[in-house]
Amino acid sequence: MTHDYDLFVIGAGSGGVRAARFAASFGARVAVAESRYLGGTCVNVGCVPKKLLVYGAHFPDDFEQAASYGWSLGAPQFDWPTLIANKNREIQRLNGIYRNLLVNSGVTLLEGHARLLGPHEVEVSGQRHSARHILIATGGWPQVPDIPGKELATTSNEVFFLEHLPKRVLVVGGGYIAVEFASIFHGMGAQTSLLYRGDLFLRGFDGAVRQHLKEELEKKGLDLQFNSDIERIERQADGSLLAVLKDGRQLPTDCVFYATGRRPMLDNLGLENTDVTLDEKGFVAVDENYRTGEPSILALGDVIGRVQLTPVALAEGMAVARQLFRPQEYRPVDYQNIPTAVFSLPNIATVGLSEEQARAGGYQVKVFESRFRPMKLTLTEQQERTLMKLVVDAQSDRVLGCHMVGPESGEIVQGLAVAIKAGATKQVFDETLGIHPTAAEEFVTMRVPVTR
Ligand code: FAD
Ligand code: NDP
Repeated sequence: MTHDYDLFVIGAGSGGVRAARFAASFGARVAVAESRYLGGTCVNVGCVPKKLLVYGAHFPDDFEQAASYGWSLGAPQFDWPTLIANKNREIQRLNGIYRNLLVNSGVTLLEGHARLLGPHEVEVSGQRHSARHILIATGGWPQVPDIPGKELATTSNEVFFLEHLPKRVLVVGGGYIAVEFASIFHGMGAQTSLLYRGDLFLRGFDGAVRQHLKEELEKKGLDLQFNSDIERIERQADGSLLAVLKDGRQLPTDCVFYATGRRPMLDNLGLENTDVTLDEKGFVAVDENYRTGEPSILALGDVIGRVQLTPVALAEGMAVARQLFRPQEYRPVDYQNIPTAVFSLPNIATVGLSEEQARAGGYQVKVFESRFRPMKLTLTEQQERTLMKLVVDAQSDRVLGCHMVGPESGEIVQGLAVAIKAGATKQVFDETLGIHPTAAEEFVTMRVPVTR
């Protein structure tokens, strides 16, 4: 049987675009449908605009430091609409680049909502298309708990387009987005509180990292309220909001920003017309080759809920394209030692096992830690401290985990991730010469393990 396409991709986000482009470059006839924005979450309402806002939020610290280096500036003024307009212009440019990437690779771009009609059929804007393989790469969507007043909450979908910077913000959640946006709002000058239901945010990260970030954020004046959760949100007569907490406290605010995880985007996707099944958390269930319960349909990226990061979606997209159209070059994605950063201020970056994970995994662990004031701050009054930590297997001497809280930690840990992936031992770290004077050299000069 002949089909219109060899591969039909639903969703032109990180994973979908990567799979479509490479499948086309391998000679496949490919179409991609996109209902909202080219480049998906990362480009439009995720990594990219978020990082731009993080840069913006760091300027007050920069201005303060500048004075200690002899520079005098007028009183700094911040204009949120200017930042958002400039950000929008950059995102539009990136949307154009994504369009060109697809079109120049020979992919047919269909702009509209795609709905599955069967194992080999998709409908977009009233038109039917058939394909030998279909790839679901529809990503995720912010999830707000079902509380009274949830419609008054702001999520990461809206936050990048707010007309004004709210004066007071309550950030709810303790994951990546909550911690990053608490830093963004605080840095921009909003009176910010972060409310997290547990004892300490960033569950799953190394304990020392979580504690260190907590101390640094509190030093900067961010209000952290752990073991706190909202019961309902009410609109006040003056247009502001009131958050009523489960413990009865009432917090007046101008914005309740929810960052409590993301659900898979399956709305009106037509899964009922196929044998695609969902896992226990509601994500699309796939085997190790990204095959769903329907043999002709594959899925990847946030919609399968494995690791919700852009580089992971990209790697999965590459793996799917190769598996289908260049099997001789296929290599499975390695989900071990995925480096990741949280762009709070200060940043966190990490690769490999936390101390807790290493101990739970049965390793006998040696830990190396260093805490210091970054050199750039020594001429200033700022008291921010950096944390660096290595988790080492005492038996094999292999470095199992590498963790940092401090400026540019993402840039530093990205390089170290290569060493960790290559199985570097602590001895290799010790024999590596530093680049002086840098913060990063500390990672190769820690000699004395911490005694617990
Ligand atoms: P997406 O990029 O979400 O793409 C899915 C696409 O499918 C979307 O464009 C959507 O419009 C489209 N679509 C959905 N349904 C249909 C349909 N039926 N028909 C047609 N099109 C459809 N990751 C990092 O690695 N680093 C970061 O710093 C980072 N920051 C983030 C910050 C925020 C605020 C958020 C929300 C996420 C962040 N992420 C970050 C995560 C990252 O954005 C995602 O992991 C990544 O975008 C997932 O890619 P994807 O291809 O699976 O889905
Ligand atoms: P996360 O899964 O990281 O965090 C969700 C947070 O919300 C957790 O602290 C969780 O608490 C809390 N939570 C969940 N449900 C509720 C509830 N009903 N009431 C109160 N709190 C709740 O999700 P995010 O939304 O922050 O981000 C989604 C994903 O996007 C991330 O996991 C990450 O993969 C990706 N991302 C990556 C970034 C990066 O690479 N820098 C930046 C932003 C996002 P608990 O821990 O107790 O379960």
